Amino acid sequence: MNLYLPDKIESLINEGAIFYISHSGGKDSQAMYNLLKNIIPYNQIVVVHANLGEVEWEGVIDHIKRNIEHELNIVQSKTSFLEMVEKRGKFPSPAFRQCTSDLKRAPIFKFIRNDLKKRKATIAINCTGIRAEESSARSKKEPLFYNTKESCNKRVIRHVYNWLPIFNLTTDEIFETIRSYGQEPFWAYKKNKRLSCVFCIMGCVSDLRHGAENNPHLFKKYVELEKKIGHTMFMKKGKSIPLEEYIGKQIS
Ligand code: SF4
Repeated sequence: MNLYLPDKIESLINEGAIFYISHSGGKDSQAMYNLLKNIIPYNQIVVVHANLGEVEWEGVIDHIKRNIEHELNIVQSKTSFLEMVEKRGKFPSPAFRQCTSDLKRAPIFKFIRNDLKKRKATIAINCTGIRAEESSARSKKEPLFYNTKESCNKRVIRHVYNWLPIFNLTTDEIFETIRSYGQEPFWAYKKNKRLSCVFCIMGCVSDLRHGAENNPHLFKKYVELEKKIGHTMFMKKGKSIPLEEYIGKQIS
């Protein structure tokens, strides 16, 4: 498989870097983990899941545990997704993904800082399953870069890199990789294109409908929250459109 594997990664492995694999339970994380465990020594891999609680698909954590050989570290923000929306009085948008930064990235980097310190290690590689094929914005990302914001050169020495190992893989290659390891992707992929939050702000209508069919209680919470805060998850032609209307399904 066409992993993005520059020489720099090999030298970082030899320097004892710790590779923090962000695992959402989705197909990309699953394929990435399998590919990385073949090239990185076992004790230099740490698997982390940023848990979003009730807004995730039920069973995702068990799915991750079943398909990895490492311990699973679970981190969670103190504020839940729905609390965050209610506090702000609006849903995040693809351009301002406060959900990703506050509920995923921040708890993961906090975990990395603490874990690195515990291990007395100084180099962390944050591995995420972002792929160029997913969107034009993603295709413009740098697949390996030194994260100056998370690095530290004063009282504490910490070098942090962000690495996108599966940046060049296609969706077909992702599914092939998973199956080549004798595994199956999470069951919701039978209908879903993407996973993570059941009702993702970037989800397509069919994924959202599938989410609503299988999670009626959660669907009701989103619909009621939209009414309570007077803000909807989606817009159409510059106009707010309630979730029920957007996916063509009413709460029961
Ligand atoms: S899956 Fe979607 S809604 Fe959930 S945190 Fe990520 S971008 Fe936000």
